[in-house]
Amino acid sequence: MSVQQRYGAGHRILISGGAGFVPSHVVDALIDRGCTVVAIDNFVTGARDNVAHLAAEPRFTLIEADITEGLPAHPALAERFDAVMHMASPASPTDFAKLPIEILKVGSQGTMTMLDRALADAARFLMASTSEAYGDPLVHPQPESYWGNVNPIGVRAVYDESKRFSEAATMAYHRFHGLSTAIVRIFNTYGPRMRPDDGRAIPTFIDQALRGAPITVHGTGSQTRSITYVDDLVRGILLLLDSNETGPINCGTEHELTMLELAELIVRLCGSDSRIDLVARTADDPEKRRPDLTLARNLLGYEPRVGPEDGLRRTIDFFKA
Ligand code: NAD
Repeated sequence: MSVQQRYGAGHRILISGGAGFVPSHVVDALIDRGCTVVAIDNFVTGARDNVAHLAAEPRFTLIEADITEGLPAHPALAERFDAVMHMASPASPTDFAKLPIEILKVGSQGTMTMLDRALADAARFLMASTSEAYGDPLVHPQPESYWGNVNPIGVRAVYDESKRFSEAATMAYHRFHGLSTAIVRIFNTYGPRMRPDDGRAIPTFIDQALRGAPITVHGTGSQTRSITYVDDLVRGILLLLDSNETGPINCGTEHELTMLELAELIVRLCGSDSRIDLVARTADDPEKRRPDLTLARNLLGYEPRVGPEDGLRRTIDFFKA
């Protein structure tokens, strides 16, 4: 199965959260294709620096606004969009405690705002969902047909449930209004432009290893994650955007590492002598996470290409710089 590129020169794309880690890489890929891109961001977790290299790009506009307050009046928003990508949301575990209401609002009001704009423009709509929709999964690896195991009142619920609401809203616009929609369930992604202090394992371990500080691994370190280099994820997201698939479709990699293996690998690649300390595990932290990629392969021809050593080296180089 191969998907033809649909969006390129002459197409206008609206992207929420465009100054964030993953979305800024999506912006770069769309600009490289010749698209005109309008990004909206309130910088709650993103940064102007992530798109500063596009400041002189005439096909790129960055608007500072909070999408939970509706779309602002701005000349760049006056014309129709061909695609609307809803990627705004704080996403790291430390944000769940610091920004719970913001997360709930951007997943609910923010999603409705972006869906309404896509509907008004008859644009294709894509939303960034998450492997967190599966909660602490009882099925392994996770196929899209698995409904998940989420604690609706736990500390992670603000994120998990807001994404599940976003998915439900997206499917309602698809079924009720006939809107062309797509849901991508993103698994742990890493790469340049992550915040060193965002609380996710990879930037934390790299930051600690580069400083020679102890690496803090939660629990026994036996919990596993599959980690996806951002370039692979962006390719998957654009394949889904270009396709007619509705999803949800998992996007990630299947290679699983324990947190201890990940910490040891990062220490080695950083040339660090940091020791590894085991610290208390956070609540509802999933034991295992690995996508079943059958749908992504069969429907989109998606295949991850960047292995952990290669991707981590590129990420470490970014943190060093
Ligand atoms: P990020 O925090 O770097 O990016 C999110 C962006 O959204 C930030 O720039 C933030 O300022 C912006 N934003 C948040 N609320 C907003 C609002 N109300 N109005 C306007 N802008 C707002 O996080 P990321 O890791 O790049 O994640 C991007 C998307 O991908 C998120 O939707 C996230 O849930 C999803 N996702 C990411 C991962 C991952 O591993 N990185 C995994 C699963 C899902």
